[in-house]
Amino acid sequence: MLIGVPKEIKNHEYRVGLTPTSVREFVAHGHAVMVETNAGVGIGCNDEDYVAAGAAIAADAKDVFAKAEMIVKVKEPQAVERKMLREGQLLFTYLHLAPDPDQTRDLVDSGAVCVAYETVTDSHGGLPLLAPMSQVAGRMSVQAGAHSLERAHGGRGMLLGGVPGVEPAKVVVIGGGVVGENAIYMALGQAADVTVLDRNVNVLSHLTNRFGAALKTVYSTREALERHVLEADMVVGAVLVAGAEAPKLVSAEMVKAMKPGSVLVDVAIDQGGCFATSHATTHADPTYIVDDVVHYCVANMPGAVPRTSTYALNNATLPFGLALADKGYAQALLDDAHLLAGLNVIGGKVTYKAVADDLGYDY
Ligand code: NAD
Repeated sequence: MLIGVPKEIKNHEYRVGLTPTSVREFVAHGHAVMVETNAGVGIGCNDEDYVAAGAAIAADAKDVFAKAEMIVKVKEPQAVERKMLREGQLLFTYLHLAPDPDQTRDLVDSGAVCVAYETVTDSHGGLPLLAPMSQVAGRMSVQAGAHSLERAHGGRGMLLGGVPGVEPAKVVVIGGGVVGENAIYMALGQAADVTVLDRNVNVLSHLTNRFGAALKTVYSTREALERHVLEADMVVGAVLVAGAEAPKLVSAEMVKAMKPGSVLVDVAIDQGGCFATSHATTHADPTYIVDDVVHYCVANMPGAVPRTSTYALNNATLPFGLALADKGYAQALLDDAHLLAGLNVIGGKVTYKAVADDLGYDY
């Protein structure tokens, strides 16, 4: 199969669909790969790296879309890219169609076969192609929060781990899923005093088994939330209620009562945020202050570390991409119900129920 990798064109998107390492795997499986010139510059990979891995370099996206049988990307295709898709062409990327009627209509009209990363499932009921970005955001949350705790950024002027003889910062993580677990890992690694709240006792058991006595686990109730948030130097908001807006677990009054210079990192901001005072920010201007509390609310945290994010994403997408290329999409989807769950559009029809329901398509 001929696999095409266009350069991402969405604003401030530096990731790329395939790393040179992944290209080499596709080539070893007998496929040809065509990469748009400079597609990998944002992750520090130039055209020579791709050629060394066995790819051909295309002069522009038009050439890639015109020739490739499967397009591998990161972000949903932009309007100009959607015009280049053709009937029967396979598209493998993040789509997030439910809130995007224009994109959905264009993909339906194109006749392309569209497999969305975010709806591929695994045998534990998880979303394996979303998890790597949650891992990145979770780990980054502590890095961003530590930076915000510095005095020059409006913080309390504390080092997360303190030093011998000086207390460490109190870090409270709300939600102990993928983001939360990775935030805990980083915060404990920096010797902070870490507490996690979750309303699922199985999640708390898992975290206790993993991190032992170093981590305090607390069942999430209104009373517990209030007590721990008011004591915290840094709070990481990492809750998710599948398919719903994030619950506002910390009210404006609670924020007002927090210690001056404490820090809120709202990772759940892409679902509306779990602090009442949160609004989405960008990497260009990531923080703002409300009632002396520093807020970090970047909706696309992995975008700041495109190299790590691209490699992490490729580790998760590669086996599915190879299956699609090796077997052809029809057989690959028939053989794997988890990959089939990723199919959102085929033959001019929406095949993902939540998208069809939300946007009024027959299912
Ligand atoms: P997850 O499903 O793995 O974990 C969510 C956890 O929240 C679960 O353990 C759940 O029990 C817990 N929870 C739900 N309601 C709660 C409550 N009231 N109190 C305490 N805990 C509660 O989800 P995840 O992958 O860790 O993602 C967390 C959030 O981070 C999501 O909103 C996701 O979209 C977001 N995210 C943001 C970025 C970014 O760049 N900002 C990147 C990746 C993920």
